[in-house]
Amino acid sequence: MTPLVDSHCHLNFEPLNTGLDDVLQRARDNGVTHMLCVSVSLETFPEISQLSHRNKNIYASVGVHPNEKNGLEPSVKDLVDLAKDERVVAIGETGLDYYRNDGEMSWQQERFRNHIRAAKQSAKPLIIHSREAAVDTIRIMQDEGAAEPGGVMHCFTESWEVARQALDLNFYISFSGIVTFRNAEALREVARLVPSDRLLIETDSPYLAPVPHRGKTNEPAYVRHVAECLANIRDVHAESIAEVTTHNFFTLFKLAAH
Ligand SMILES: [Zn+2]
Ligand SMILES: [Zn+2]
Repeated sequence: MTPLVDSHCHLNFEPLNTGLDDVLQRARDNGVTHMLCVSVSLETFPEISQLSHRNKNIYASVGVHPNEKNGLEPSVKDLVDLAKDERVVAIGETGLDYYRNDGEMSWQQERFRNHIRAAKQSAKPLIIHSREAAVDTIRIMQDEGAAEPGGVMHCFTESWEVARQALDLNFYISFSGIVTFRNAEALREVARLVPSDRLLIETDSPYLAPVPHRGKTNEPAYVRHVAECLANIRDVHAESIAEVTTHNFFTLFKLAAH
């Protein structure tokens, strides 16, 4: 079985955190050898750091999600300092989320800019979340020179035009269980076009479980279904999707041979 990597999950969230040993066992049983546990707040970052220090197959990121409105606001220096943790391989997740648009979004944009500055200073790639905010996301990436650290557009749901702009900025494109959903025909067309050497897969668990587990709790083991879906779309073997996405993960996050 070719190893698979879940490039984006939240193992510290309920209910994954309470049954973690079983979650990790099912991941192993499905060939998922490595996972990146992504930070959404400074308050919960210590949990992620601990998790990644205790499990050598779990990596960590540091960042504050655009939907975290009331928590600690990170300075560039805070992020750079926390990114010195040897298990931290990326800055994020950061970006823009206008889905729950409540008017004034400049605080999200300022936070996003600070994450890009921190990524440049710490020479670690970005994990970018963008929802109903593609134009501003790309504009700020261009403004702040996000191409320098590079990174990944996680849980990608935008058009090919947006994908192409992100690819031009040196970014990888990561597909989640959404690509398996019945109504995601347009997204599958985008997933067909992304070059192999820029392709990543993820679960974003515990959310967004892929078909055939849609609606249930998601977990890293299910990244296999995302790989199989991409294999169908691109008319290649699932093994080949596993091979390229695992290789891409270790290349993007500058990790030694696994
Ligand atoms: Zn996200
Ligand atoms: Zn996430």
